[in-house]
Amino acid sequence: MGLTGLEIYKHLPKTNCKECGSPTCLAFAMALASGKASLDQCPYVSDEAKEALDSAAAPPIRLVKIGSGDHVVETGDETELFRHDKRFFHPTGIAVEIKDSGDPAAEAEKFDQLEFERVGLTFVTDMVAVVNESGDGAKFKEAAEAVASKTPKAMILVSEDPDAMSQAVEAVSDRNPLIYAATEDNHEKMTEIAKNHSCPLAVKANDLNHLAELSKKVTDLGHQDLVLDSGARETSQVIGDMTQIRRQAIKKKFRPLGFPTIAFTTKEDPDAEIVQAGAYLSKYASIVVIKANEKHQLLPLLSWRLNLYTDPQKPIQVEPGLYAVGDVNENSPVYVTTNFSLTYFIVQGEVENSRIPSYILSVDTGGISVLTAYADNKFSGEIIAKVMKEQDLDSKVKHRNIVIPGTVAVLKGSLEEESGWEVTVGPREAAGIPKFAKDNFA
Ligand code: SF4
Repeated sequence: MGLTGLEIYKHLPKTNCKECGSPTCLAFAMALASGKASLDQCPYVSDEAKEALDSAAAPPIRLVKIGSGDHVVETGDETELFRHDKRFFHPTGIAVEIKDSGDPAAEAEKFDQLEFERVGLTFVTDMVAVVNESGDGAKFKEAAEAVASKTPKAMILVSEDPDAMSQAVEAVSDRNPLIYAATEDNHEKMTEIAKNHSCPLAVKANDLNHLAELSKKVTDLGHQDLVLDSGARETSQVIGDMTQIRRQAIKKKFRPLGFPTIAFTTKEDPDAEIVQAGAYLSKYASIVVIKANEKHQLLPLLSWRLNLYTDPQKPIQVEPGLYAVGDVNENSPVYVTTNFSLTYFIVQGEVENSRIPSYILSVDTGGISVLTAYADNKFSGEIIAKVMKEQDLDSKVKHRNIVIPGTVAVLKGSLEEESGWEVTVGPREAAGIPKFAKDNFA
């Protein structure tokens, strides 16, 4: 959240000495606000003013990174209470729990397979939480090492025992794990461990007031990369606390609560657990730690996350272009549709089901569906004919027949006129494609 020029100006010396290169302090403030200057160009800014400007310019919720290499989970740095006001930016990290008392290596191997594809996107569980259930430091360290050797994904180390934590962090510090958790009793030692290894640190208290106090104590000790846990475990209390944290951070800029949050599910039944995790995802967990570890259990949660974190003003799109489904040749049928992901992948699935290798021409409609695009004049005979030329359809197939969606049968005449091709009106619903293909192309 940037400051305005006038807000910055209030903190400048107002002597207009020109040493910064700007004619006046006000001009310099304006240059700063638009990112065309940096504060260190003015030699006379006091330390207090610097701190005030830095802190005012900092995002209301700190961005905290967990993990390393290609598996960094970015949490926090949100600016909205409500998604429709703009969008949410950093998808909730979904962490699956692995206990050090079980078989961590085998469980981590299974966890690492938890990826699947839907509408052309890869869904992943991005974090793994190693829990010091045994209470034994050596066992915790071994478990952390075993998990690290089986999955490159971001790790959370869960223990309130500083000795056990120290051993485990030492073993996997290159993975930049989240240390969970600093409490009232152990925060000095935990902060030291986190500082020594430059790892993010979760702070856990019994209620919001104590949480704010504790986070302040830890930042005063010199560690800023924090994740907050109010300590609540009952569903409505967790949601209430996380909502307060978000509200205080964004609306009041209350620094001690301006950090990402973590929530733990408690439900034993996996279905109930997923519903609980889904509620935490909605309001406002930056990380949710769950026990469910089967694909069918996770799919609804990952789908919900996808929905929540897409930009409501930008539909999900596929790259427009000509796609081959199956082993196409010069006689293969050609279907045309839009580049709205859902439409495209449903058509693609049904063309696959038809078992007749075919082309699909995906027209750039800005990611909107067939009828909406037609109504908006983004899916017209003229536009489709132009894309057919751009994609050089003439040289791809030797027939001159293209199938349009049944809902826009009205385009038949104009497309025939513009392209010179024969236009066949396909089914209104993609589900009709296999039968249509059998009747027309088998
Ligand atoms: Fe003002 Fe500082 Fe620039 Fe001098 S150097 S004009 S005090 S902003």
